[in-house]
Parts: sequence; C-alpha cells; structure tokens
Amino acid sequence: MTIARRAQQIKPSATLTITAKAKAMKAEGIDVIGFGAGEPDFDTPDHIKRAAIKALEDGFTKYTAVGGIDELKDAVIRKFKRDNGLDFDRAQILVSCGGKHCLYNLAQVLFDTGDEVIIPSPYWVSYPPIVTLASANPVILETTEESGFKMDPDDLRRTINKKTKALVLNSPCNPTGMTYTESELKRIADIILESGIYVISDEIYEKIVYDGLKYVSIASLGEDIKERTIIVHGVSKTYSMTGWRIGFTAGPSSIIGAMNKIQGQSTSNPTSISQKASQEALNGPQDIVQAMVGEFQKRRDYIIDRLNSLENVSCVKPAGAFYVFPNISSYLGKSFKGEPIRDSIHLADYLLDVARVAVVPGAAFGAEGYERLSFATSMENIEKGMDRVEKALKELA
Ligand SMILES: *Cc1c(COP(=O)(O)O)cnc(C)c1O
Repeated sequence: MTIARRAQQIKPSATLTITAKAKAMKAEGIDVIGFGAGEPDFDTPDHIKRAAIKALEDGFTKYTAVGGIDELKDAVIRKFKRDNGLDFDRAQILVSCGGKHCLYNLAQVLFDTGDEVIIPSPYWVSYPPIVTLASANPVILETTEESGFKMDPDDLRRTINKKTKALVLNSPCNPTGMTYTESELKRIADIILESGIYVISDEIYEKIVYDGLKYVSIASLGEDIKERTIIVHGVSKTYSMTGWRIGFTAGPSSIIGAMNKIQGQSTSNPTSISQKASQEALNGPQDIVQAMVGEFQKRRDYIIDRLNSLENVSCVKPAGAFYVFPNISSYLGKSFKGEPIRDSIHLADYLLDVARVAVVPGAAFGAEGYERLSFATSMENIEKGMDRVEKALKELA
C-alpha cells in the first residue's frame, strides 16, 4: 500500500521518541521526573466539571450546530469584550475541537498551494506541519536569545514578499515564554498593515502571564489591524481543560464562514458536553485562574534561578506560559564516558538515561542548542529534577 505524499512529508515529532521512552521507563517503575508536560498539572475546576455532569444528565448529548452552540459563542464574545475590549458577533466566532483544530481549519481556508507563512522560531511544534498540510510553505524567521526571542521588525519586513499570506504570532510563546509588549505589537501591526498580509494570533496562553503583566491582543490595537487578525484561543491552558478539546477562533466573518464549512464536512460540532463545560469556564468565576498563575509564578522564579546558577547555562526569564527554554549549547560536544553529546536530542536522551529527567529537545521547536522544561509539575518535582540535571551536567567532560 502507498501512503499519500501529504502524509509522507510529515515527519514524526522529534519529541515522540523521548516521550515514549520516558513513559516506558515510568511503566517499569523507574522514578522519572517529567519536565515534558505541555499542559497544566492542576485538575479541571469543580464548577466546570459540574456543568458537564449537568449537560449529561439533561441529555445534552446530541449533535449541536457545527460551529458551536450560541450560548458558548456568546460566552466567547463576552470574554473578548471583557478581557480585550474587542467586539465580535456570532458570525465571527467558531468553536472547534481545541486550539490545534482551529489552526488546522484556518490553514485549510486561508492558504493556497505555494503561499508562504512566516513562523518565528523557536516555534510551537505543530505550526509548520499544519501549514504544510495546507500545501503552503512555512518560512522560518529566526529570533535570538539576546533579543529575548522577539522578532526584529526589520527582519520581519525583509521576510515578507508577494507570496507571503500570513504571520503566525504566539504571545506568550510556547516554548520560550516570550511575551510581546503593546509597543512591540504596534510595530508588528504596522508591518502587517503595510504589507496587507494576515496575522494568526495564537493567544492560548493569554491568561498565564507573570509579574502583573497586562496582556495585549494585537487585534485590540485598532479596527484596521483587527480586520487582518485571526485570533486562535481556547480553554485548554487557562482552565486545565486540555482533554475536553475546545478551542475557538475569532476573525473576519468570511474566514470564519469558510472554516465552518470545512468543519461541517470533517469533524462537525465539538463535543456537546465539553461545550457546556467551556461555557461555564468562560462565564463562571475567574479567580481560580489567578490562583493557578500564582503557583506557576513561584515555580518559574525557582526554576529560572536554578537554571541560571548552572555553569555555562543561560535562560531568558519567561513572561508567560509555563516553560523555560535554557541555552545548553556549551554542553554539546562534551562527553559522557568518552561519547560526545551531539545535539539537543542527544542531550535530552542523556538526561533521561542518566538523570532520569525528561525534557524536550530544542530541535523540535526549530532551536538547536536549547531544551524545553515545563514547570507544570509540583515544586517538589522541580527541586528534585533540577538537582538531578545539575549533577548530570557536571558529569559531562
Ligand atoms: C497547547 C497549545 C495550543 C492548543 O492546544 P489545544 O489543546 O488544541 O487547545 C495552541 N498553541 C500553542 C502554542 C499551545 O501550546
């Protein structure tokens, strides 16, 4: 049997082998500390679970409107008004099966064969394949640690050409935690408007920001940039609801309408019960989010101090999300028992084998010389894990 080229061109995730190995070790009873998690370690809040139970008991278990029930769309509309000062109507909102599904649908309606899509690196692993699956070409725009992993506006301007269709903006960023300020976003917005491309703003980590930072959505900078922005968002990270699979897109009604068509011929509506739970998450008490972020901030402060105290390791302090992205390049080429460590994948492998700590190699995010550590795990685990990392790095010669 021949597998279609479309599927063949998608590389298996570089993180997969490490994650699978860590899982297998845990299953064998080996005490592995996991810094690999891409989701909050907190439970979904009770009032949200209760809304799902009520939906079940009420028999709310049938097909719904393809793009989500009106009550949930209205909760999303209220969220954008309350948090970002943005006005949307129902025709500008689509509810899908997670933020990832929103991005997939969006790529299918926005990109044609040969279109270029600018993705700043380090980037979230799924952006390039989602673009490729839509027959478009990802164009990676590198950022530097010195700039805090922020795009240089001149670099952005130079990268845009006639084929460019969109820029993917992810603030706060997975894997670096980089978060743009309002003035930086204004500069990016000016370039978007000058060139007439779209900006796909992945705002999934909006609520997970530190030190009292005021989050700004690029769409809120003016009516003209709002018309060029498609916001991808969801409940996964804010409310510890990764398994419920609810995300939402907000943008021009023509784009949303086309996405609705794609969704109608593929997944149809996202799970009815999850929609009711998400409605409660968005409309219900928000103080639970602050409590979670407060906990994340303590862990961030601790892990960043530990990392920066390691010899020849540097790490930018993340302003948002729950990842740190230390530069470990000075350890590449060093040896363990005579065998040199080749790259970030090899170092991750070494840390798993020797230190029993699971991290995700920077190569997966388009940034060789780095590792991603998630601090969505208990303080106790972070302390223990960092002790192990410290010891293992010292053993390299
Ligand atoms: C987690 C994540 C998403 C979306 O996750 P879903 O569970 O599909 O909602 C989107 N973008 C980034 C950068 C993420 O880390």
